[in-house]
Amino acid sequence: MILSTSYDVAVVGLGAMGSAATYHLARRGIRVLALEANTPGTALGSSHGLSRIIREAHPEGDEYVPLVQHAYGLWEELAEETGRQLLVANGGLAIGRRDSAHVQGRLDSARRHDLRHELLSAQEVNYRYPAFTLPDELVAYFDPRAGVLAPEACIAAHLEVAIRHGADLRYGEPVLEWRPNGDGVRLKTDRETYHAGRLAVTTGPWAGELLADLHLPLTTERIVNAHFDVLRPEDFTAENCPVYQLSVGEGYYYGFPAFPGQGIKLGAYNDCESCTPETIRRTVDAAEVGDIRNTFDRYLPAAVGAARWALTCMYTSTPDGHFIIDHHPASEHVLCAVGFGGRGFKFSSVVGEIVADLAITGRTGHPIEFLSATRFGRVSA
Ligand SMILES: Cc1cc2nc3c(=O)[nH]c(=O)nc-3n(C[C@H](O)[C@H](O)[C@H](O)COP(=O)(O)OP(=O)(O)OC[C@H]3O[C@@H](n4cnc5c(N)ncnc54)[C@H](O)[C@@H]3O)c2cc1C
Repeated sequence: MILSTSYDVAVVGLGAMGSAATYHLARRGIRVLALEANTPGTALGSSHGLSRIIREAHPEGDEYVPLVQHAYGLWEELAEETGRQLLVANGGLAIGRRDSAHVQGRLDSARRHDLRHELLSAQEVNYRYPAFTLPDELVAYFDPRAGVLAPEACIAAHLEVAIRHGADLRYGEPVLEWRPNGDGVRLKTDRETYHAGRLAVTTGPWAGELLADLHLPLTTERIVNAHFDVLRPEDFTAENCPVYQLSVGEGYYYGFPAFPGQGIKLGAYNDCESCTPETIRRTVDAAEVGDIRNTFDRYLPAAVGAARWALTCMYTSTPDGHFIIDHHPASEHVLCAVGFGGRGFKFSSVVGEIVADLAITGRTGHPIEFLSATRFGRVSA
C-alpha cells in the first residue's frame, strides 16, 4: 500500500453534490482530491437521465427559496464560465386541484417570497399549451422561472472548471473507510491511503456505508422514467411546452418538453420499491411504462407515441424530506451532504458552495440549520 498523499479537502462521490463541492473548493484555491467509485455522474446513482426540473416556489419550506435563488445565479455563472448550455428556462406548471398542497403550497410560497407566478385554469392551460387537455377540475400554478437543467452537462461543467483550478480527480476508486487522523482524516481506497484536512461525504444512495456510525434514517427508493416519441412534435418544443408536475387522482407524475434525440421524458412517483444501490431492480417492466403512458394519455393525449427507452434512478430521503448538510457530529473534520430525495439536483450548485464554506471556515451564511445531521436524535457516534 502506498502511503499518504496529502490534501486540504477530500470529496468522496462525484454525483451532483460532490462535483459541485469539488468545483467550489478548487476555485477557492483549495488542494482538493475527489474520489469517485464509478464515473462522474454515473448512471448507477441519482444524477443521470438528461433532465432535472428547477423551480422557484417551494412549498417544502421557506428556506429553500433563497437557496434556489442563489443556485440560479451559480448555474448561470457556471454556464458562462464553460460556454455550456446547462439550463433551459421554459417555465413550469404544477397541476392539481386548487385546494391541493401541490398548488396551494406554491401559491403560499409565492406570496411569502413575492415570486412571479400565475394561477391558470384548465382552459387557460389547454389554450396556451396545446399539448395539454386538462379537465375542468384542475388548475395550474405557473412558475415562469422554472425550467430544465441538464444533469450530465452540469456535472461535467463543474468538474471541467475544478480540473482547470488544479483539483485531483480519481475515478473508479471507491473509498473503503476513513478515520480521524491528527488534524484531519485518513482515507483508504483500494489503491492508496490519503490524508486530508477535511473530508466531504457526498455519496448519495451509498451514504449509509461511509456514514454508518451516524445511523442516519435514510431510505432509498427506485424511480422509473421513460422516454417516448411525441405525436405532435410542434406542441412539445421547449418554447411551446413548460416542464410539468401533476398531482392527480392517479398519483404524482412529471414530464419534460421534447429535446432532440430524447423525445419527452415522463416519470412517476407512486408506491416506489425500497432498494439499495446493490438490490435495485434496474430493468423496467412493460407494466411500469404502461402506467406512465396511460396517465399521460389522459392529460397530454397528443404526447405519447412509441416508448424509446426507460431507466431507473434512486431517491434517497430523510423522514422529514429535508436534506442533510452538516458537520459529522463526532468529527469536526468530516462533512456530509446527503439525503437529497427527488428534488436535490437544482440545489447542487449552492450545496457545493455550502460544503466549501463549511470545509474552509467551518461556517456558512446560507440558511442550513434545518438540515442538521442530529435533528433525528438517533446519532450514536
Ligand atoms: C429519476 C429522478 C428524477 C429526479 N428529478 C429531479 C428534479 O427534477 N429536480 C431536482 O432538483 N432533483 C431531482 N432529482 C433528485 C436529484 O437528482 C438527486 O437528489 C441528486 O442528483 C443526488 O445527487 P448526489 O450527488 O447526492 O448523489 P449521486 O448522484 O448518487 O452521487 C453519489 C456518487 O457517489 C459515488 N460513491 C458512492 N460511494 C462511494 C465511495 N465509497 N467512494 C467513492 N465514490 C462513491 C457514486 O458512484 C456516485 O457517483 C431526481 C432524482 C431522480 C432519481
